Amino acid sequence: MKKEGIIIGAGMAGLTAAIAMQQLGISVKIYEWAPTLEAVGAGIWMAPNAMQVFDRLGIAHKINEGGVPLEKIQIVDRNMHPILRTNQDAFRNRFGFTTTAIRRSSLQEILLQEINKENLNLGKKCIGIENIGDEPVAFFEDGSSVAADFIIAADGVHSPVRKQLFPKAILRNKNTCCWRGIALLQLRPEFKKAIIESWDQGVRFGFSEVKDGMVDWFAVQRTKDKSKGHIKTRLNQLFG
Ligand SMILES: Cc1cc2nc3c(=O)[nH]c(=O)nc-3n(C[C@H](O)[C@H](O)[C@H](O)COP(=O)(O)OP(=O)(O)OC[C@H]3O[C@@H](n4cnc5c(N)ncnc54)[C@H](O)[C@@H]3O)c2cc1C
Repeated sequence: MKKEGIIIGAGMAGLTAAIAMQQLGISVKIYEWAPTLEAVGAGIWMAPNAMQVFDRLGIAHKINEGGVPLEKIQIVDRNMHPILRTNQDAFRNRFGFTTTAIRRSSLQEILLQEINKENLNLGKKCIGIENIGDEPVAFFEDGSSVAADFIIAADGVHSPVRKQLFPKAILRNKNTCCWRGIALLQLRPEFKKAIIESWDQGVRFGFSEVKDGMVDWFAVQRTKDKSKGHIKTRLNQLFG
């Protein structure tokens, strides 16, 4: 029997699921809320487990070429003295991959290249799903609905589908504020192909190269204060 499915959400999970389905010969249509897919976001680390998934899908080499396969991950204190070093060779020997740092936009581009664009429907906000007879049906804000053999909900952290299916699931508040960015600069050789993360009381700062001359950085503070304020002043006070 020919199966036809629906994927809600064209984030990294939805796109990856769509590639896997396509490769299995299962027809899927993706429905994404956003009217356009923008190249947004800073960097992301693709851990060895994710890289193994991409390897099965035949695109791990593209992720490695588009990003930076890392050779070391190091936690340091505020004076850059090492607290922890991990041996990335051990991961490569065991799993075939280390962690790869890549721009989120590059990852999205690689995943999108694999997708049959005819199956990507933008500007479609799912508002709920329902079983009608034997078929699951997805309903959209524009009043339309689509029936399928199965539905994969990959609609992110605020997933309306999860809220519907698991109304008691609650998001954990970590009372943490995170700032992220991309800086165009050349790192010293010892900081290349590495994640460096510096820990201090209630704050963390980390960075890794996502491309030659392009550095993903993040600054994290444990706080209940979510006010936007003057970001540069606040970061200078915390980390300067
Ligand atoms: C600061 C930060 C750093 C992180 N760093 C890492 C990291 O280094 N490595 C790592 O593996 N993970 C990291 N993560 C986690 C990672 O970003 C998420 O796990 C990942 O983005 C989840 O992907 P997703 O496709 O499930 O959801 P999303 O990326 O959120 O995509 C969901 C998609 O669904 C769409 N959507 C939402 N609602 C609807 C709707 N009603 N109808 C239709 N479409 C809808 C959205 O527009 C979006 O395109 C980090 C997260 C944060 C916040």
